[in-house]
Amino acid sequence: MTFHLLILPGDGIGLEVTAQARRVLDWFASHRGLDIEIEEGLIGGASHDRHGTFLTEETKARARAADAVLIGAEGGPKWAHLRTGSGPEARSGLIRLRRELDVYANLRPIRAFDALAGDSPLKAEVIRGTDFVILRELTGGVYFGEPRGIEDLPDGSRRAVDTQVYTTPEITRVARAAFELARRRAGRLHSVEKSNVMQTGVLWRQEVQRLHQAEFADVALDNMLADNCAMQLIRDPRQFDVIVTDNLFGDLLSDGAAMIAGSLGMLPSASLGKPNASGRRQAIYEPVHGSAPDIAGQNVANPLGAILSIAMLLRHSLDLEAEAVLLEGAVEAALASGLRSADIARPGAATVGTRAMGDGVLAALEAAA
Ligand code: NAD
Repeated sequence: MTFHLLILPGDGIGLEVTAQARRVLDWFASHRGLDIEIEEGLIGGASHDRHGTFLTEETKARARAADAVLIGAEGGPKWAHLRTGSGPEARSGLIRLRRELDVYANLRPIRAFDALAGDSPLKAEVIRGTDFVILRELTGGVYFGEPRGIEDLPDGSRRAVDTQVYTTPEITRVARAAFELARRRAGRLHSVEKSNVMQTGVLWRQEVQRLHQAEFADVALDNMLADNCAMQLIRDPRQFDVIVTDNLFGDLLSDGAAMIAGSLGMLPSASLGKPNASGRRQAIYEPVHGSAPDIAGQNVANPLGAILSIAMLLRHSLDLEAEAVLLEGAVEAALASGLRSADIARPGAATVGTRAMGDGVLAALEAAA
């Protein structure tokens, strides 16, 4: 059956990294018989420039109809002034699309690649062998809670409000996904919140514990406060197998954990929802990084986060585990051969551009095939 993929490159380096991801998909189509049909569309600033909105109804409909969506990144200083207030344009197209597709389970794998262990700002002996997944709740919490907005007060000052809100179904479905993931991995789950100071944290902990006792007693559950987790990720990252946490904490902790992998540019992600009419789960794949306006258009961005997102697509949407492992191995091999984009290079070391890094992965795929 033909797999329909919608690619939304977005803005800035999103265009450069998705171009390399697309070359990898083309390789699997021509060498591994991957039956895939690819369409492209606009999101973010590129969409706003053309249609006056970060996300059109047409793009939403195409995303709903697709088997999966691959996104580059969106945003940049040109459009930042549009993102204030409480109207729909105050939220990025990407955040609206995640909500639209209800992709509530955001998987962010964090691995210390052997070839990069000596190059991380963290000590090699602390990070070597690290391999865990942050499962971030993606469609609730403070990024969506109402009321929100900025208002003028009579005394001339202003007041801003965001609302952190979670319901039991929202907590339970992401916790269930986390327990199931932990069961398929090493069987350990850390549930992360701030139940010491936040009511949403109290409810989160109660619901996770209730589900643990009822259905997942075989998984080792640890409840951890988010501030402690930030510290533990640096102190001893190998203690983690699966971390489940809310939208905001997941956003922050995964960017911090990126340095275990060497750079934000190395991190892929998958955002999964419920199965659609044809039995496939709604899915968005995207590198974790943003549009990086500081380096956009210079052919220096690291495309590996986007390329590793294709490995996640092969695994989670297509059930092609062997192909996913082949691609992850090709990324390891490209790194082991010494290829470094600027973000993962030691000071003074030779670097390659975005396209040359894509060439390196394709060469490693050829060699392994
Ligand atoms: P960013 O992730 O774009 O960049 C942070 C830093 O990391 C920059 O110095 C950048 O050069 C570097 N970096 C990021 N990805 C890289 C890569 N692949 N290779 C090499 N270096 C890389 O975050 P930011 O600067 O805070 O935000 C820039 C814009 O991106 C903003 O408009 C923000 O709203 C948007 N943003 C979008 C997403 C998304 O689309 N998923 C995520 C975060 C930020």
